[in-house]
Parts: sequence; C-alpha cells; structure tokens
Amino acid sequence: MRKLERSRALYAQAQQLLAGGVSSDARRGVQPVPLYVDHALGARLWDVDGNEYLDYVLGQGPLILGHGHPAILAAVKAQLDRGQVYSAQHELEIEVAAAVCRLVPCAERVRFNSVGSEAVHAAWRLARAYTGRQKILKFEGHYHGWFDSALYSVWPPLDAAGPYDAPVPVPGSGGMATSTAGDLVIAPWNDVDVLSRILDAHPGEIAAIIMEPVLCNTGAIAPVPGYLAEVQALCRAHGCLLIFDEVITGFRLARGGAQELLGVTPDLAVFGKAMAGGFPLSCLAGRAEVMDLITAGRVGHSGTFNSNPVVMAAAAAALKELERDDGAVFRQVTAAGQQLMQTLRDVAAEANVPVLVDGPGPVFQLYLTDQPAVRSYRAFTLTDRAGMAGLHTLLLDEGVNIVGRGLFFLSTAHGAVEVAQTGQAFAAALDKWKAG
Ligand code: PMP
Repeated sequence: MRKLERSRALYAQAQQLLAGGVSSDARRGVQPVPLYVDHALGARLWDVDGNEYLDYVLGQGPLILGHGHPAILAAVKAQLDRGQVYSAQHELEIEVAAAVCRLVPCAERVRFNSVGSEAVHAAWRLARAYTGRQKILKFEGHYHGWFDSALYSVWPPLDAAGPYDAPVPVPGSGGMATSTAGDLVIAPWNDVDVLSRILDAHPGEIAAIIMEPVLCNTGAIAPVPGYLAEVQALCRAHGCLLIFDEVITGFRLARGGAQELLGVTPDLAVFGKAMAGGFPLSCLAGRAEVMDLITAGRVGHSGTFNSNPVVMAAAAAALKELERDDGAVFRQVTAAGQQLMQTLRDVAAEANVPVLVDGPGPVFQLYLTDQPAVRSYRAFTLTDRAGMAGLHTLLLDEGVNIVGRGLFFLSTAHGAVEVAQTGQAFAAALDKWKAG
C-alpha cells in the first residue's frame, strides 16, 4: 500500500480552496486521493510522498517525448530571456506554421490557439460561415472539449441517449446553454448506413461532420475499414465539411496524424496536446479556400495568448524531434506500445482474466470485457467500467499511472525496461483485483 500522508494533507487543504479540490474534472477520479506530483522525468513521476510511478497519462497525451525532454526545455529557457508574451508576430510562429503545413495533409493554412476546446470552436465557426448552415453532426462517445456547444453525448447514460440509430443530444454538464443542443445532430460512429440515413433526414442543414478519426475518448477504437472514406464521400454528397479532431491523434499516431496514417484528408482539422511537447498550444488547420474566410475578415478568430513565444519555442523544438529521420519517433513509440499491449494480454491470459487490449500503439485501451472487439460507444458501455476503476487504483499502488478509464499513452521514454516493469505491476494488480 502506498504511503499517501502528505498527498492527503494537501488534498484536504485544496478542498477548502479549489472547488472539488482539483483544477480539472478529469483529475477528480483518482482514488483514494488525487495525485500530488513533486517532479517528473522521462517516463516517470514522483509524488509528494516519494512514491514513484511509471507514467502512462503523460499530461493526458502531450508528452510523446516524455517528461522534461532536454531539447524542449532548452528552447523554452532560451526564449524566456527574450520575453514571455508579445501579442505580436514573431519568427517562431512562422516556423511552426511551416512545419504543420509540411507535415499535415489537410494543412494549407493554420491559426493557433492555446487549448483544444478553442480550436474546435474556431473550426465550427468556420464551417458554419463557409456553408451558411447551422448544424454540426457529432458522434456519440467522441469528445471535442468542454465548451457548451460541444459537450454533448460524450458518455451519455444509455437510458437518456435515445435509440441507437437516432441518438438525442445529452448535455454533459449542468448549466449548459440549452440553445446549443438544437445546433447538433448526434449519430453512432463506425456505422455508415445509419449516418447516411441521418444525413438524408437533415437535407441542407449540416455544416460539418466532426469526429476523432481514431476514437480515443471512448476506448481506443479504429474506424472500420473504409469508414473514413465513406464519411468523406457522404460529406461531399451533402455539401458539408469533414473535420477531424486530432487533438489526441495528431503528432502521436504519425507525423501527419491519423489523416496521414489512414489516408483520408479532411477539410479542416484541429490539433493540440503533442504538438508542443507539454505546453499549451492548439491549432486549426485546413484547406486554404475555407481558412481564407479568416483571411478575408469574414470569420473572427482571436486570443491574447495565441502563438505565445514560449509555447512556440517548445512547439518548434518538439516538431523538430517529431520530424527527424522520417518520423522515427512514431515507429519507436508504436513498437513500444504494441510490445506493452502484447505483454498485458499475456499477463491477463496467465491470470485468466478476460481483457481486450486494443489501439494503434502510441495510445491504446485496456478493457475488462470478454467481447472480442469494441467498435462503438454502446459496446464500450458493456465493458466492466467499475472494475476498471478498481484496477486503476490497484495499478497506482503498484506504481503505474494510467488514465482512469483504462487508456495508456506512450512516449519515447518508454522502452523495454518500462514495458517489463509494467507487466510485473499489472500481474500483481490483477492478482489483488481478482481477490476483490
Ligand atoms: N478534442 C479531443 C479529441 C480531446 O481529447 C480533447 C482533450 N482531451 C479536446 C478536444 C479538448 O482539448 P483541451 O482540453 O486542450 O481543451
């Protein structure tokens, strides 16, 4: 059992000051007490009680180069001597924009923001202006940030979610502007026939279809073969734009994101997380013809911290690493992820616990289920999510930090040593889990 005295004391103090004791709801679920980190390096972090963890949360995805990558820290330190915010133009923003346009298939023009939710907001505004239509089609189980317009049907309770082939928008929070629900159409993902029928039912109304091209907020689910191209064809037939939310998949699955890996180029895409090595940067990228509504001043886009020079220094350094040797980072992280996935499968088989380990590798999901595959949000709800919450805590006790719902992010700092150590920790955690 971990010693957590100081963490508990800090949490007690924080609960008097921070609503809920934490700064983002995503951090609430960690039991018995949220992680209080003292420092982090490479694949590891240490809490204030001196416990060491192998880190597969990696800041919820940004740290594909691990904690404290020397090239990123050096670039940031050098920039700090030259000022921390200009709200003016500088060379680094051109360097980063050029890298994104070079690497990402859909990127002919870009605009920067600080976080993913903002970039989604910008993409939807642009799509509405370009098409002159109001509605956005989003899929059940996909997450596009915490704004009122987007926080619908991410993990809806099935008794409120409507029929499979005609889901209704379910708000993810109290206090959301109810007017936003009417601007959304919800569909099940990975089912082109149902999507086609839903589009037919909304002729001339839908500005854009948005999706995580590999779903990473509900398990780690690849699109079924051909699905992305079929959705793209439907978009063209119905005159709506295709938006890929690559906040997780971008600069993680491949240099050009899921769109490069899977060979389908959307009209617009949003990026965040891994592109700046752990600093707050997001990016809207897309076809010049659409993006040039911003150029023409017909669509507004702003932000005090957009293309902040410290963040841009981090991004320029991170993108250099990611671009190197024809994307060697992605081959390395994919191989390490796939090795760990097989290790976890072997350990679970040995322990006789039914699990499914699935995903591209740089990010993957451990499901407690005897289903042979999980291809949709509704299939995900049939997995043992309460059991996963318990296993998550047991893994922390064994020194392994994963995203509570069973998701693992990998980095270049995760190698054979880390994989073997994680396998042993998983075996120990599963033994305790089985004992209840
Ligand atoms: N889109 C996706 C796919 C995400 O995973 C996230 C964050 N987890 C967001 C958008 C929102 O990004 P941010 O938290 O930076 O606002």
